[in-house]
Amino acid sequence: MATVELKSISKVYDGNVLAVKDANITIQDKEFVVLVGPSGCGKTTTLRMIAGLEDITSGELSIDGKIVNDIPPKDRDIAMVFQNYALYPHMTVYDNMAFGLKIRKFRKEEIKARVDEAAKILDIGQLLDRKPKALSGGQRQRVAVGRAIVRKPKVFLFDEPLSNLDAKLRVQMRAEISSLHNRLQATMVYVTHDQVEAMTMGDKIVVMKDGIIQQIGGPLTLYNYPVNRFVAGFIGSPAMNFIIVRIVEEGGKVYAQEANFKLEISGKQADVVRDYTGKELVLGIRPEDLNYEPNAKDGECLKAAVEVVEPLGAETLLFSNTGSHQFIARVNPEIHPEIGEEVRFVMKMNKLIFFDPETEQALSVEAGAKE
Ligand code: ATP
Repeated sequence: MATVELKSISKVYDGNVLAVKDANITIQDKEFVVLVGPSGCGKTTTLRMIAGLEDITSGELSIDGKIVNDIPPKDRDIAMVFQNYALYPHMTVYDNMAFGLKIRKFRKEEIKARVDEAAKILDIGQLLDRKPKALSGGQRQRVAVGRAIVRKPKVFLFDEPLSNLDAKLRVQMRAEISSLHNRLQATMVYVTHDQVEAMTMGDKIVVMKDGIIQQIGGPLTLYNYPVNRFVAGFIGSPAMNFIIVRIVEEGGKVYAQEANFKLEISGKQADVVRDYTGKELVLGIRPEDLNYEPNAKDGECLKAAVEVVEPLGAETLLFSNTGSHQFIARVNPEIHPEIGEEVRFVMKMNKLIFFDPETEQALSVEAGAKE
């Protein structure tokens, strides 16, 4: 298998569209790396440059230490699974999987051995004689993955392979691709706009926005230590709540103040926030870090009127409004207030993250997430 390294890679399309700017990513051997971000952020372009399907405007791309900028796709030893995994409709599953090997002039026995092995891994051995139209969406997707597996490539590239599947099948295929990765021990790069897919599948996640990498890290690093407001809001569902507060100092203590509350900030967080005394900051708190506490004291909690109740079974989402801010809390399903009822939430103080309102950078990631 292989390492893939992107060094200062940029891509400018005709008409001066800067699709990717100065991307630096190291993909280790056997790693599962997910490129994630909203539509148009440059993730597909990045993947296509790795595949060799798109010219690199500047920077250096290497696979296993060898620079491949000018090497054509067929000589890069990579296999790509696309969103629209067009299978050949007139060919059987076996022939669809064998096709790439046939044109590369593999021996018949070798082709059979590889197709049988891939079919076993993907549990589609019983489907080899069928044509694609006689398959379900999930089975077709497995054949498309099988076509990549038989090549035994150095690197697998996936471009939103699950986005055409329904929600239930997507969850199942997500687990299948993760377990496939464990079994094949292959280097994989996976593009998605779905942060849940990214969090559940990636060893390492690259969050992109407007062609620029925002942060690279493991799922829990991104969740607990987002470097800026974009990553904080993108990772996690429902998204983090953001509330504008003013930092005040009284009697040596530091508080985050809003019309409704004045919270004492302590420990390392206080040291970081103190520099902003008299100024506004954005306070970030996740829906799961708000404790429903009807007896919380005035001024020490978020006091709000319930606007929407979403019972999801295992949990309930409460959309409430303080008068100046709407926010979401994730609460125990036994809690079901009436619309308009006043509710009180206490924030888990060690989970607060503060952001500079202008730069949108997290003030100090460590201090934001730890005491
Ligand atoms: P999506 O999830 O919608 O596929 P993406 O993050 O994969 O989005 P890209 O497809 O990489 O984004 O596109 C990045 C930017 O480059 C976009 O602004 C897009 O419009 C532009 N772009 C993509 N392909 C071309 C092209 N062939 N010519 C010009 N601009 C392009």
